[in-house]
Amino acid sequence: MVEVDAVGAENRRRFVLELRDKFMGMARMSSADLDAVVFTELMQVVSFAKTRIPWYTDVFPSQEFIQGLSSASELLLHLPILSREEVQNNFEALYFKAPDFDESDFVVQATSGSTSKPVSVMKFGPLYSAEYDALTLTEWHLNKRDVTKLVSSFRVIDKEARNVPLGPPLSYLGANRPSTALSVLEHSIDELLDELHQLKPDYLYVNGVVARQLASAQIGSGRPPISVEHILTVSDRIDPQLRTLVQEAFNARIVDRYSSEEFGYIAFQCPVHDHLHVSAPSVFIEVVDEQGLPCDIGVSGRVLVTSLHNFTMPLIRYEIGDIAQFGQPCDSGLNWPVLERIVGRTRDGVRLPNGEFHLVTFFNSEMLKLRKIRDFQVVLFDDAIVFVYLTEKDFDESEESAIRNELLSLFRLALPVVFRTLPAHYWRNMWKRREWDRLESEFDPGWDEDELMTVLTPLLISLR
Ligand SMILES: [Zn+2]
Repeated sequence: MVEVDAVGAENRRRFVLELRDKFMGMARMSSADLDAVVFTELMQVVSFAKTRIPWYTDVFPSQEFIQGLSSASELLLHLPILSREEVQNNFEALYFKAPDFDESDFVVQATSGSTSKPVSVMKFGPLYSAEYDALTLTEWHLNKRDVTKLVSSFRVIDKEARNVPLGPPLSYLGANRPSTALSVLEHSIDELLDELHQLKPDYLYVNGVVARQLASAQIGSGRPPISVEHILTVSDRIDPQLRTLVQEAFNARIVDRYSSEEFGYIAFQCPVHDHLHVSAPSVFIEVVDEQGLPCDIGVSGRVLVTSLHNFTMPLIRYEIGDIAQFGQPCDSGLNWPVLERIVGRTRDGVRLPNGEFHLVTFFNSEMLKLRKIRDFQVVLFDDAIVFVYLTEKDFDESEESAIRNELLSLFRLALPVVFRTLPAHYWRNMWKRREWDRLESEFDPGWDEDELMTVLTPLLISLR
């Protein structure tokens, strides 16, 4: 049986590399050629959904009408937006299992979420994972990373591993350096920084919150200088201050990505600039306003994602809950659409007393330039804005009032701002969370640290 597995592994390797070649070809295409390829793929998934997926059969226009259209924008105008709630409530009507496929290859992935109900998406596992791997390799090529260099990762993981082979897909390119993966839940920032000095990786996978802490700790520590070529961040919005901070601390470039459980990769870091590029081979992205009309370049709106290759459960014009904006075409030679800023999640907003929806984001925030802040969490209670933080030195009066003023102008709510510190050991379990969150209850100034932590616990996002 070993031989059969070897053949299977070799076939998969070839398939992934062929897909990678196709995606790299798309990375070199002119915009016009790329549009044509993407339009063909959109037409295929829309036609398939019309005939095979009950949810779409009734609401999509006829095949004859669809086939007469000539551009993606024209096609999308005629298709409804798909909400998270519709996917949550109509799972059974949204998938098609090809009868000739092995039942056990259909996998259901659910989104994580602290306060929102998860969304489940069905995928055909072998194809999804091959495409995911091919996109990983494509991103390595685009950002000119070298597979013979050393990779470490500090993440939220169940099982730590030291000096183990990286495995596919990087091994498909000849990667053979053993890699170390440590759990950020098992170690303090100082321990992780010691590990970083020991391991000396060229590339470090870490989330934005931990990257910020590591960089602050390095700068304040008197440790010898250390260089990391790329800090590969996942699932966080990266603001300009963080890019500057890790550049200063580790001489490192942040290479970010935008992904989700529903789709896998959505956008990749530009090889040259700080913006992202849509993963054009796998998804089609729209940014639309409150009325559902396309936003101009530079104007923020709701992100709609269409998966081009999930024929098991096609999500078409799915409103993922993020707010972002397109940027001007890029001069790097990569013509995949530019996503300039992921501004926030739609639920990062508050309803003002006048009924207006107002987005609250700390993107480019002044207060985050305060190097004293080792970590923070903002919580909007019914009756107070609470700034929970970790610091080595207390704020002076002007710093506290700068933070208070910024919070009041960000939220535009007439509420008291309360400052509370939590000591370092509480923060270890808080590496994965939103920068601010809403708790629909009243704040009790009498809570001690343990009680405050208990109140905050439901806000922590599970990554497992
Ligand atoms: Zn670019």
